[in-house]
Amino acid sequence: MKFRFLGGASAVGSLGLIAEENGLRLLFDYGMTPTSPPGYPQPAPEVDMLLLSHAHVDHSGMVPWVVSRYEVDVLATPATSLVAQILMEDILKISEIEGYPHPYYKRDVKETKYAFRDIAFGESVYAGGMEIIAHSAGHIPGATMFQVTNGKSYMFTGDINTINTRLVWKAKPVKTDVLIMESTYAGREHPDRREHELDFLNSVEEVVSGGGQVILPSFAVGRTQEMMMTLAGRGYDIWVDGMGKGISFIYLDNPDYIRSQAKLKKAIKGVSMVRGKRDRERASREADVIITTSGMMDGGPVLTYVERIKDDPKSAIFITGYQVEGTNGRKLLDTGMLDISGVEEKVSAQIRQYDFSAHAGHSELLEFARACEPETIVLMHGDQREVLAKDLSEEFEVITPVEGEEFEV
Ligand SMILES: [Zn+2]
Repeated sequence: MKFRFLGGASAVGSLGLIAEENGLRLLFDYGMTPTSPPGYPQPAPEVDMLLLSHAHVDHSGMVPWVVSRYEVDVLATPATSLVAQILMEDILKISEIEGYPHPYYKRDVKETKYAFRDIAFGESVYAGGMEIIAHSAGHIPGATMFQVTNGKSYMFTGDINTINTRLVWKAKPVKTDVLIMESTYAGREHPDRREHELDFLNSVEEVVSGGGQVILPSFAVGRTQEMMMTLAGRGYDIWVDGMGKGISFIYLDNPDYIRSQAKLKKAIKGVSMVRGKRDRERASREADVIITTSGMMDGGPVLTYVERIKDDPKSAIFITGYQVEGTNGRKLLDTGMLDISGVEEKVSAQIRQYDFSAHAGHSELLEFARACEPETIVLMHGDQREVLAKDLSEEFEVITPVEGEEFEV
């Protein structure tokens, strides 16, 4: 099969991979990078089908661009397609606010809604004599690894996690000849999840019992729900704000893609959802814990809440995810300063960062790759692929293609 990355091979962002065999052309993911200005993959040629691994915008953000041009079907789980549609509309809103040219229009997002074809884990679809099978990727609800077979088996992982989280079960290895694997955390390890979670819970308890408030800037997709589930049943007054609210209900309605519908339900019941300005003021005054977007503090309601506690050393901002260079969250971690409505402000509240990553770490990727028993591994979606490539090359043929380069495996 012939392959070519349109984006996201040597960097985390804007993923797009073309695969071609017997005149059939597949496109795995087509995302954008939500920086300012946004980053886009190379323009996609006409394709016969788009396979969308999951809803995160660096995988899904440019799907309407393809659909509006080539009228293709988009294969995805319902948990992915429902959340991706919300994010596509959000991309248009953000480009409006920030004054960047629209990558597509509202009507294209609407058209995309009708282009989605559902696939469930364990199910197969046939195209051009090839079988396409969906497997769980363990990354966020609905995240899929696509296995394409035509005598030889190829597996595209999308983003994967190989440990159980509260929200989703881990990915299981699948035997394949060629493994096209993400490498976001190549060269980096995660702390032990259970110990790290305990450490986090202890810190929350310390702040709340000391009379402070904890603000958890959290990504809407996956992280908000993971935080809700981690803090559930501990007697805190928890408020949830931002796009993560609606997404929680989508996951609740799609129980096949989450670890425990009962536990997510309990977590949702145990929090107050902020609906409007009044609630926001109330949450600001009364909450023990506020879970809110944006995860990198570059918009969303988070700064409204931070404004109130920034001078209070009893309160805390606990960052729950990776902070990209150039974001407000990264600035806070590096300098203790935050950009609030265009003004640089010093933050006296406690600042700490926790690792609730939904990606496999370096040794987890190694272990996963070994268990898939491939002949060839194509590493993608990482800016430090070389370290992992070196470790893997002792046992496998490893390819690290760059964007635009054609290769055959
Ligand atoms: Zn992702």
